[in-house]
Parts: sequence; structure tokens; C-alpha cells
Amino acid sequence: MSADDEAVELCHRLMRMDTSNYGDDSGPGERVAAEYIAELLDEVGLAVEVIEPSPGRTTLITRWEGVDPDRSALLVHAHTDVVPAEPALWSHHPFGGEIADGYLWGRGAVDMKYFAAQVLSVVRARRRSGRPPARDVVLAFLADEENAGRLGARWLVDKRPELFEGCTEAIGEVGGYSATLPTGRRLYLVESAEKGVIWFRLTTAGVAGHASMLNPRNSITELSEVVNRIGRHEFPIRLAPSTRMLFEAVAAELGEVFDPRDPAPLLKAIAPLERMVGAVLRDIASPTRLNAGYKTNVIPSTAGAEIDCRFIPGFEEQFVAELRELAGPDVQCEMIYRDNALETPFDVPLTSAMEASLAAEDPGCGVVPYLLPAGTDAKHFSRLGIACFGFAPLQLPGDFDFPAAFHGVDERVPVESVRFGARVLDTFFDLC
Ligand SMILES: [Zn+2]
Repeated sequence: MSADDEAVELCHRLMRMDTSNYGDDSGPGERVAAEYIAELLDEVGLAVEVIEPSPGRTTLITRWEGVDPDRSALLVHAHTDVVPAEPALWSHHPFGGEIADGYLWGRGAVDMKYFAAQVLSVVRARRRSGRPPARDVVLAFLADEENAGRLGARWLVDKRPELFEGCTEAIGEVGGYSATLPTGRRLYLVESAEKGVIWFRLTTAGVAGHASMLNPRNSITELSEVVNRIGRHEFPIRLAPSTRMLFEAVAAELGEVFDPRDPAPLLKAIAPLERMVGAVLRDIASPTRLNAGYKTNVIPSTAGAEIDCRFIPGFEEQFVAELRELAGPDVQCEMIYRDNALETPFDVPLTSAMEASLAAEDPGCGVVPYLLPAGTDAKHFSRLGIACFGFAPLQLPGDFDFPAAFHGVDERVPVESVRFGARVLDTFFDLC
């Protein structure tokens, strides 16, 4: 079986394994997928190290020796967990791995079992035919990405950093996929930056009392005003280097002038990716939880809300100051979670290798960096000084709504896209 055929087959099999991550250790865990992957690697003589910080929450690591042992290693990482799915809402069962209408349907199709399958199929084919990669490659199949890597990448970086010794660069999810411009040319977006994350808990304090009486200090009324103010606020445009490069490339392709004060109109050219890429022009603060009150005729003394904030790399301090100012002096504003932003320089030999391997399958295409509004395991690996990129190649049909597939109902990936990416990766391992 060729590597690209096997990529589809392995993706189908991995998607039939329910590795739902509920974020509270109640899911089935990643072990079933890890056992299967360990077998696939063992068949081609690659021994894995099994790491289980908690029973069933399995990560695998192996080192695939390259041609040049003197060069630093490349880390290739894929998470094997998925977010849960409600089968009743889907047109094909989320854990059926069905192939229909040219798509592989199911949870994990784009996030991100297809990449694990591509990597495995290419590594297996190359091991069988005696074609090592250009340099050592550390392969990591990780647990718990969907819960911020608590029992996966975060845990490994904190407790077992030696596993990644000698790795200077990494490739992982949400990058290397195509946007088709109105000119018909395809641009491949390689993720080279990620927004940072801060979760704030806001608490307003008032005076508790009977709901029938006058009360100018109602904590819920005050909280509503603050939440409304933050939720409707538009933060200023801030262009990360990767965002600027992306928009400059799009403008040049369209023959338009790039206006850094108002790049938003250019987003239309990369529809349907605009919902994702449009979120990187500004910091975003989204109210996501409310917690107040215990009885309809009682005004509670306090009321709380949680705000999920995503900030542009390099602007964390400014963002936090703005958010606190928006909240106002009377609101208690507590940071309950924080994760770093990252920005990796794009003009490096590894991105030239990505470009050449994409061009071998899609001559004339362009490759551009972009800032991901969300976070991936790259955040953790970047703490080890590893230069992280999202490069899990897919050539997508121009009208395919890729962002909607992430954590969405009817998540699916075009079968041809999976095959395409496997061929690109095969070339990439020669050039990396
Ligand atoms: Zn993912």
C-alpha cells in the first residue's frame, strides 16, 4: 500500500477510536490509540517510550534516526485526543470514520488524527524502503492537548524535558493548509505564531437584600454592565510580524495596497478562513461564564463572570492594562489562567523546506506565515526554546470551511487532502 493510501486507512482507523477528552479525566483516554500507534511503529522497527502520567492518558515518543547525526533534531508532534461529540447531531457517526462523498467524517478528522495518520504512513513507508529523514526526527503522539496539555505536552515539558533534548524546531497542527485566492492561486498558511491566553474572573460586590426593596448596589446589575462593556469592546488593531507578512502577501497577490490601519477588507480574499484569521488583528475578550444569585427574591452580595482573553504576541502588558481599565476600579479582577503567546521567525531554512515540498505537489503555490488565534501544544514546546510551526499539510477545496470543522458538528476532511499532505511530508523529510 502506498503511503498516501495508508494515510487514509490509518486516519479511518484512528477516528474509529473514541479518545474524547472531557477535561476531567472521565473520558476513555488515549491509550487505545497509543497501543495501535506503538504497533504500527514497532512493525517498522521503531521502539516507543510509553508515558502515562495518569492511567490511560498515554503519550508515545520515539526517535527516528536521520542521515546526518550531527544536525539538531526536528520534533514532529500530534495529539491523539479529541473533543467530545454528540452523535445525534451528526450526519455520520462521529466515531465511525466513514468515508462518503470524498470526505472522511468524524471527530478528529481535522483536529488532528489526519496528521498522525500522515506521519505514521510516511514514516512506515520510508522505514520499509530504507529512506531515513535528512536529520533525526523525534515523533511524539500526545495525550490531553484538548485540556491545555495538562497530562500531555505541558506535563512532559515540565517533568521530562530530556525527551526533547537536541530538538531545535517542531512541526504540529493547524498550519500548512491552503487558501484559494480570487486569482485562483493557492496560498498555504503555515502557523508561526499563537495568541496568548488569559482567563479573568471578575467579581462585583454589592449589598445583599430583599429584591422588593430599593437597592442602588445590586451586584448583578453592576456585573452586567461590566460584562457588556468588555464583551462589546473593540481592541485596537495590532499587527504581529506574521500577520503583517500574511496580509502583505495577500495584498500583493491581489495587486492592492496594504493598509496596516485597516487590513480587514483583505480577509474576503481568503474566505472561508476569515473567521479564524480575522480574529488575529486585535486582542479579543469574550465573556464565557456567569455565576450569580441563588434565589429569585434575594439580591446576592456578589456576582461573578469569567472572561476568555486572547492577546497578540508582544502586547500582553498593554492588553492586561486595558482590560483592567475596562473592568473599572470597583471590580475585583483575578487572573485564573495564563498561557504564553509565541512568535517564531519565519525566514528560516525549515520554512524553505516546507515551501519546496509544497511546491513539488502544487507548483506555483505561495507559502505565508500566520498567527493562530487559539493555542496548541506548540506553546509548551516553545518553552524549551524550540522554534514551533504549524505544518500539517492539506490542499483544501477553495470553498471548504476549514475553521468550522474544528470542534464542530460534522467535522470532516477531504480524502484527497489527506493523500496530498502525505506526499508533501514525504518530500519534506528529505529536505528538513
Ligand atoms: Zn488540535
